[in-house]
Amino acid sequence: MTPQHTLKSSIHCTGIGVHSNRRVHMELRPAAPGTGIVFCRVDRPAGSARTIEAVHENVVETRLCTTIGNGSVSVRTIEHLMAAFAGCGVDNAVVALDGEEVPVMDGSAAPFVFLIECAGVVEQCAPRRAIEVLKTVRLGDEERWISVAPAETFSLRCDIDFDHPALGHQSVFFDPLVTSFRTEIARARTFCREADVAGILAAGMGRGGSLENTVVIGDDGPINEEGLRYPDECARHKALDCIGDLYLAGAPLVGYVSCRRSGHGLNHSLLTALLEDPDAWRLIGDEQEATYGEPDREPVAAIA
Ligand SMILES: [Zn+2]
Repeated sequence: MTPQHTLKSSIHCTGIGVHSNRRVHMELRPAAPGTGIVFCRVDRPAGSARTIEAVHENVVETRLCTTIGNGSVSVRTIEHLMAAFAGCGVDNAVVALDGEEVPVMDGSAAPFVFLIECAGVVEQCAPRRAIEVLKTVRLGDEERWISVAPAETFSLRCDIDFDHPALGHQSVFFDPLVTSFRTEIARARTFCREADVAGILAAGMGRGGSLENTVVIGDDGPINEEGLRYPDECARHKALDCIGDLYLAGAPLVGYVSCRRSGHGLNHSLLTALLEDPDAWRLIGDEQEATYGEPDREPVAAIA
């Protein structure tokens, strides 16, 4: 049986939020078995009101990024860091932040993978739990959809289809048993169309966005001098976002995920539809745990 894993030591970084443009200091800390991923706003007074468990029930906004909150505080743009935890097999960690947004770094998950690898990952004395998908759940319409179906292991097919000369249709397939998350997915950066930049800024979003952390796609391709890291970098990034959003299940999914023109909203809706249907999944890995969402968590107050 695969054990749970956490970080071997704490590690930190500093950067700006892509939407807030505010500087934030972030520390990734080890956590006890059963904790899951928990965010802690250390700029607020100590207590449970400043911690937020990274689970789908705590998602409060999905426009242009995934935001979690607890009614008192929120943290946005968590998806790339969540993807790094998922891709590196980290079950338990505390993310201590002195601001409202995870730093965007270079717009990919690679800097977070680097931090996790520098800190090291260690086994813990508890079996890893996973969510086995028992029946197909599909949301969306003919144009935009996402589905998850029973399978022996996790895999993901992600298609994008933009009516744009430099994007068009791209498709990626990620199977962690044969594809390296670290080299094939984690490095894919956030992107947006040049034509959408003004609208994003007018909505009060993307204020920290720049060519340092976003691939901006003009009519002839990326306007970033360095170009793309992969010809299908945009589809790879959508896969990265999906992996991060789905890790809000609270445990790895065992199933085949397929999506076309999906986004944070649909990713979140899929998790909700799946997990709210008791016939659609079951928890595996620890037969003592009868229900999902009630693990032997470290009391939140102890983290706060
Ligand atoms: Zn993203």
